Amino acid sequence: MAGTGYNVELMENIEGNCPHSGGLQAAVVSGFWCPICEAHLDLEDVERWVRAAGEARDEAYLTVEGDKFARIVLEERQREVYRRRKVLYELRSAPPAVATRPEMILVSYDFAQDSYECRIFYKEPRPAWGLERISVEADLDPILELRSHSDPNVRLASGKVEEFHLLRRRLVEQDALPLLRRVFYQNEL
Ligand SMILES: [Zn+2]
Repeated sequence: MAGTGYNVELMENIEGNCPHSGGLQAAVVSGFWCPICEAHLDLEDVERWVRAAGEARDEAYLTVEGDKFARIVLEERQREVYRRRKVLYELRSAPPAVATRPEMILVSYDFAQDSYECRIFYKEPRPAWGLERISVEADLDPILELRSHSDPNVRLASGKVEEFHLLRRRLVEQDALPLLRRVFYQNEL
C-alpha cells in the first residue's frame, strides 16, 4: 500500500508518539505492548489510542471542503481508525497470552545465510500476537540473546535452536553429516 508510510508519519505528527504500526501484542505479565516502540498499554490506553484516531479523522472532516489533498488526508485517517479498531477487537477477542503454547517447533539450518530459521506452529486458533517465524544467525551469542525476548514462545524456541545448534556443531566436529532440520513436538517443549 503506497499510502501507509505517509499515513504513519501523519499520525505520528498528530500524537507525537509511535502509531504502533505493527499492531499490539499481549505482554508477558499483563496488558499489551508494541514491538516497535516497546510501549506497554492497558486496555484503557488502547481504547484511548483508538479514540485519538477517531478525533484526528473528525478534525480532517472540517478541512475537507473542495480540497483534494485534504480528502486524501481524511481517507488515510479513516483507514487508521479502522486499523486501530481492528487491533482493539483482536486484543479483546484473544485468549490470555500465557495459556497458549506452541504445538510444534521446526528448526532448520540455512546454508546460504549461515542462520537458523525457526517456525513456531500453534494449534488453532493461533494467538493473534504469536510470532510464527524467527531467523537467527548460526552463532551462540545471537541465539542466547533471544532468551530475553518479550514473547515467551520465542524464549522457548530459543532453547530449541540452541539445542539444535550445539548438536550440529558436535556433528561437524566429528565429521559426521550435520542435520539440516529438527522438529520439536509438544512433549519436548
Ligand atoms: Zn509503538
